[in-house]
Amino acid sequence: MTRALHTIGGQQVDPASSAWLEIMEPATGAAYGMLASGNATDVESAVNAAETALPIWTAMGPGERAACIHRLADAVEAELESLARMESIDNGKPIALARTMDIPRAVANLRFFADAALTDRQEEYTTGDVAMNTVLRDPIGVVGVISPWNLPLYLFTWKIAPALAAGNTVIAKPSELTPVTATRLGELSAECGMPPGVLNIVHGTGAAVGEAMVAHPRIKAISFTGGTATGARISAAAAPHFKKLSLELGGKNPNIIFDDADLDTALETSLRSSFANQGQICLCGSRILAHRAVLPQVVDAMVHGAQQLRIGDPLDEQTQQGALVSSDHRDKVAACVARASDEGGQVRCGGRHATDLPERCANGYFYEPTVITGLPIDAHTNMEEIFGPVVTITPFDDEDQAIAMANATDYGLSASVWTTDTDRAARVARRIEAGTVWVNCWLLRDLRVPFGGIKNSGVGREGGEEAMRFFTEAKTICTARSSG
Ligand code: NDP
Repeated sequence: MTRALHTIGGQQVDPASSAWLEIMEPATGAAYGMLASGNATDVESAVNAAETALPIWTAMGPGERAACIHRLADAVEAELESLARMESIDNGKPIALARTMDIPRAVANLRFFADAALTDRQEEYTTGDVAMNTVLRDPIGVVGVISPWNLPLYLFTWKIAPALAAGNTVIAKPSELTPVTATRLGELSAECGMPPGVLNIVHGTGAAVGEAMVAHPRIKAISFTGGTATGARISAAAAPHFKKLSLELGGKNPNIIFDDADLDTALETSLRSSFANQGQICLCGSRILAHRAVLPQVVDAMVHGAQQLRIGDPLDEQTQQGALVSSDHRDKVAACVARASDEGGQVRCGGRHATDLPERCANGYFYEPTVITGLPIDAHTNMEEIFGPVVTITPFDDEDQAIAMANATDYGLSASVWTTDTDRAARVARRIEAGTVWVNCWLLRDLRVPFGGIKNSGVGREGGEEAMRFFTEAKTICTARSSG
């Protein structure tokens, strides 16, 4: 049985409460391990360890800190294959995806921010001959990181790496649904010589551990990725503590296909942007908006493509669609599809639990990729995040209508625009309310650019300098050029 222990003060430790949760394998529906069920006492121990480590980590300076984070990246890279397997078992995602996306990206996150630690961020502004202003960017101190289950190690390291690189010590909570690679990261951090207490990982539920972190007066900032409703709760709980917050929340992203698009590329990519990771990526384009002239081709291609995707054991190299993360989540997705039918939508393919599976997976949480047409743009199905292998297709007649439809939800995380008209691409991209707009592509990520959402998709930006700024406090020293 796998055992996921906390990492506190460089040690693997049991939960203070002696309580454990089960770790489920989504592909089989069976428990395969035990997870430390943390609580406020564990969070307190982690904060004490992080405070003890802070002066040591700060004194190491950027060069040594960068070297230490690079050693952690080396260690993750050396175990890429076994971490990919862990992620696939824990989350239900195809192993090929974990091997080519999740774990390589975790390595890239660590390396990118290790190098970012070396950039001198001090700024100087001369106020005529009156004063010289020097702006320092100091670490905040002990910071908290809370992440979701869909891209476990990928998103965990996306937050931990800049926090460490900026000189903070960290308390990090992975999702209770996918704790295994986070546990290994904690072990590796000790093995690669990171000082004890610099990176602390506390397992458990959001209610027990996440809330204790948000309420803890000595955790000075929280970087959170997860659902919009959870983000709202965290905002409210953090407000009385004047805690710095970064919130990366849900999305309902439009994928706009104009009639002048390169349809082969648009449709091939749209299949991925609808169903990659079983549609459980915040950036998935779950609303396809197709110009009426190409609607029949778009619907046919999406239905045919969805039906061709190989659903199977996530550990099978050929599998393209694995299991959803939990039985609760699969039930939620199924309920959303039932509601789409009630709203008048036509389920063109999918819409049911997948059953043609290897025996090992008979009780797993599989759901067929689903394409729905015929819904108005303001149907619940088109307004609310489903976060599963479900995409809707809605026709539009002109550019203004496409933009109005794209902006018709409370979310604003990302969008894709497919057109060969570069002027139109620029016009549309500027008018779409989203943190990222991809033109003729999807999920191309440069780690230097700001990443985040507007409206209910979040507050603040991650990535590159934005992340380094979030994890530091600016201090201005204004010195008069001549006394008096
Ligand atoms: P949740 O919001 O349910 O959980 C996210 C994390 O927050 C988990 O670790 C969870 O713990 C914890 N948590 C839950 N309640 C609280 C609380 N009251 N206080 C503190 N922490 C809490 O999201 P999911 O894990 O279900 O992830 C899916 C969501 O994440 C989707 O909405 C998706 O769009 C969004 N997401 C956004 C991304 C972005 O960059 N904008 C990227 C990826 C996902 P536990 O689950 O262990 O109880």
